[in-house]
Amino acid sequence: MKLRIQAVFIGSIVVLSVVWIISAFFHSVQAPIEDVPKTVDSNLQADTNMDEEDPLKNEFSHIVYYDKQNLTRYKTYQKGNPALSIEDIITHVNMGIDAPFYSKDPIIIENPDRIDVLVNKIYKLPESWKPSDLVAVESGGQQMRSEAAQAFQLLKEDCKVAGFNIIAHSAYRSTKSQKHFYDNMLAINGEEYTDKYMARPGHSEHTTGLAADISINGAHYTKIENSEHYPTFYALLENHGFIVRYPQGKEHLTGYAYEAWHIRYIGKDLAKQVNALGITYDEYVARKGE
Ligand SMILES: [Zn+2]
Repeated sequence: MKLRIQAVFIGSIVVLSVVWIISAFFHSVQAPIEDVPKTVDSNLQADTNMDEEDPLKNEFSHIVYYDKQNLTRYKTYQKGNPALSIEDIITHVNMGIDAPFYSKDPIIIENPDRIDVLVNKIYKLPESWKPSDLVAVESGGQQMRSEAAQAFQLLKEDCKVAGFNIIAHSAYRSTKSQKHFYDNMLAINGEEYTDKYMARPGHSEHTTGLAADISINGAHYTKIENSEHYPTFYALLENHGFIVRYPQGKEHLTGYAYEAWHIRYIGKDLAKQVNALGITYDEYVARKGE
């Protein structure tokens, strides 16, 4: 009898222990979900997931270059810019121009050696980077990367055949010399003006060795558009892989005033694609998803 009571007692303990273990297990599984605090971030996450699951609730997701990580920024930017198309909302946010230029930490470029590298007020070249294949493009000591220099030479020959002469001024500039130019202009003209015309150190296309400021027939390069030969020069550019990088009417996208004289080598195919779309290179890259 005593043994039976003991057996029942032990049995009860075993059953209770099993029940306790099982309930503790379920509690531990559920606990993290219940314990997640309802912060702004977790709400946004839930919102994003819901939108991804139901495309009808997300008016952006049908665009090829939509990036789900930017959804909240698309919505915020759209509120401030209700007249813009969905395509432009996505493009501008992908470009990073939903915040004022230079207001955020720059994105350091991972592959500065690429011929199609995008350098602008958002994407910055690594501090100590310098192209390894610079060659002379003009007798005055100007340099460009070898592929761009060869293309420039062919462009120059085509211009000669068409009856005018072009010269590359201020092609490659080191980050150090860019700093010198920027600081000088800043001291004279102030930040707003300087940022319109001069890139901050590390943000200049000239530092890639793929850009140059061009003059026609010896006139100052800033007067290039006054030349009767400018339309011919412009038409020849894409055949040699160059684009006018800061076009007229696109100042809010590039962050720079119109510069008819500043050309950038990106390669023939790319130059033709960018021109055919009639968009800036910044927009092109934002739509390509890189
Ligand atoms: Zn320039």
